[in-house]
Amino acid sequence: MKPQLKQRTQFSLVYLIIAFIVLLMVQSWLLAPRAVEIPMSRFLQLLREDKVEKVSLTDKEIRGVLKPGALLPPAAGPGERVRQLLGSEGGPAVFTTTRIPGVEDSALVKELEQHRVEFSGKIETTLLRDLIFGWILPLGVMVGIWLFLMRRMGGGATQALSFGRSKAKIYDRKELKTTFADVAGVDEAKAELVEVVDFLRNPKKYQRLGGRIPKGVLLVGPPGTGKTLLARAVAGEADVPFFFMSGSEFVEMFVGVGAARVRDLFEQAKEKAPCIIFIDELDAIGKTRAGAVGFVGGHDEREQTLNQLLAEMDGFDSSKGVIIMAATNRPEVLDAALLRAGRFDRQVVVDKPDINGREAILKIHARNVTLAPGVELRLIAARTPGFAGADLANIVNEAALLAARKGKDAVESADLEEAIDRVIAGLEKKSRVLSEKERDIVAHHEMGHALVAASVEHADPVHKVSIIPRGIAALGMTYQRPVEDRYLLTRSELEDRIAVMLGGRVAEEIVYGEVSTGAHNDLDRATEVARLMVTRYGMSERLGPLTFGNDQRGQFLRGAGLPVERDYSEETARVIDEEVRAIVERSLARVRGILGGKKAILLRGADELKTRETLEGDPLRRLLAGELEAVKEEVR
Ligand code: ADP
Ligand code: MG
Ligand code: ZN
Repeated sequence: MKPQLKQRTQFSLVYLIIAFIVLLMVQSWLLAPRAVEIPMSRFLQLLREDKVEKVSLTDKEIRGVLKPGALLPPAAGPGERVRQLLGSEGGPAVFTTTRIPGVEDSALVKELEQHRVEFSGKIETTLLRDLIFGWILPLGVMVGIWLFLMRRMGGGATQALSFGRSKAKIYDRKELKTTFADVAGVDEAKAELVEVVDFLRNPKKYQRLGGRIPKGVLLVGPPGTGKTLLARAVAGEADVPFFFMSGSEFVEMFVGVGAARVRDLFEQAKEKAPCIIFIDELDAIGKTRAGAVGFVGGHDEREQTLNQLLAEMDGFDSSKGVIIMAATNRPEVLDAALLRAGRFDRQVVVDKPDINGREAILKIHARNVTLAPGVELRLIAARTPGFAGADLANIVNEAALLAARKGKDAVESADLEEAIDRVIAGLEKKSRVLSEKERDIVAHHEMGHALVAASVEHADPVHKVSIIPRGIAALGMTYQRPVEDRYLLTRSELEDRIAVMLGGRVAEEIVYGEVSTGAHNDLDRATEVARLMVTRYGMSERLGPLTFGNDQRGQFLRGAGLPVERDYSEETARVIDEEVRAIVERSLARVRGILGGKKAILLRGADELKTRETLEGDPLRRLLAGELEAVKEEVR
């Protein structure tokens, strides 16, 4: 929505400039002195009164200018009225007179000489000059400025001339090397798409029993899960032309271009049927129309594009062999009309991979790098729940770079582990030096997290604590290794998570008697979890098993960028706040109890952390379990 807004502002700026220039031109035209037609007798009178400064003669007329101060009666006409209104003085000083046929030049010339009037025989063609200076030049300048602005707005001017040509890239099978073998961890989506490819290859097989081939297939899933990759794989697998276009390419600043592009795309596709049209990032055009309350008179452009798309989708039947695929990671903002039967009626969920999927994805990407023998990708997969395919590809790549930098011949497990840490927490920044005092605080803070995690029942085990600054926000880090993928969490598990988040703050409290700003991120997360427990999971006794502020309509409105009014009362809002506060404060008290009883471990661990920067593995586990000398032994 943002870039569009900007485009529109720029666009209206152009209008403004054009309007301004037109105004200037009209004004100068109105105010320009106009020649007044006077009779010959009056001209002679003026001449004899010595009021004429110069004239030019042709055989048909005399054009002349009066001396300063000499005035003619004002001419009628709009220009004169305006000039009078603007307070411009007197009438015009330019006049024309039609010559009387037969009157000799010589007499007139003599008289002109007598009165020292400058005269010439050449007629000054003010008409042409007026045309050039009054219209053609300003118009040229105007168009120039306009073109310049258009170009600055991203090549719009040239596109303006080639309106509507679809920018779809068309691929043939030979060009695309991506196949289903390059995609892993999304088996259900793959199965559905294999079927789509099969539809196109043998439509008869499916229509035999009267079945209707689906028209639209929508890939839905979080970013980086491989939707675009899947589409490419379909193109690589299908023996048919593949039109690839991104939703944002339809949306131009010119109203109507997007719609024309859609029309053009479908026309091309129909000629090439059977074929596949793929629209990536469908949400760029498919945003719900109700929500599109515009900045300057509505988002006409996107709306028209969407309407055209809907019309085109209705207008052909899939037995002709055109299948439309699209991808989005924000299905909730899509216009309902897009999802109706006969349009994108098939939705394929492309979800984040589970541990087996992650292992398979890692294997795919590890094909391109040299792995040291004994690297267990399974373990890497186990350490990365919640990672999407793109993150995993990133890890393998990072690990390869790290290993190369260290001059290794192959990528080892340690490199992969470090790559994970990097991807999780941003790049390691050893260069950022903490003061002694800051290191002290961070060490106690992180030990606080670790110690609480080790003490509560449901927290994931801590495998590493570090006070190496990472990225911008994290000064230290406590790494917990999930034992398994979790899709459901119980109330006590959530409470334990909150406790771990609060551990850092409470540790600072215990050791220094005050807290630093370093805990704010933890507090944000703890508060967020507590709020979700109350408003979403129905885990508050006082409010009972209801959810608040989370209805479909609310999501719809938020998706459309509209303000959402609460679906609960002021009174309920207060109770929610109280309940959230109660959960966090209860946890705080609990954590104070836990850490208060383990202050010795806290101090010991922080000490060790300050000298060694990271603690991990067995020594860390034993230290957290209360063996104060565990870490010391390890060092020796
Ligand atoms: P999306 O379009 O869903 O946001 P992409 O398809 O652009 O994600 O994925 C980006 C990259 O991440 C891909 O080019 C690929 O290298 C990697 N990737 C993502 N998902 C997978 C997957 N399921 N299997 C293999 N690689 C994947
Ligand atoms: Mg994509
Ligand atoms: Zn913290």
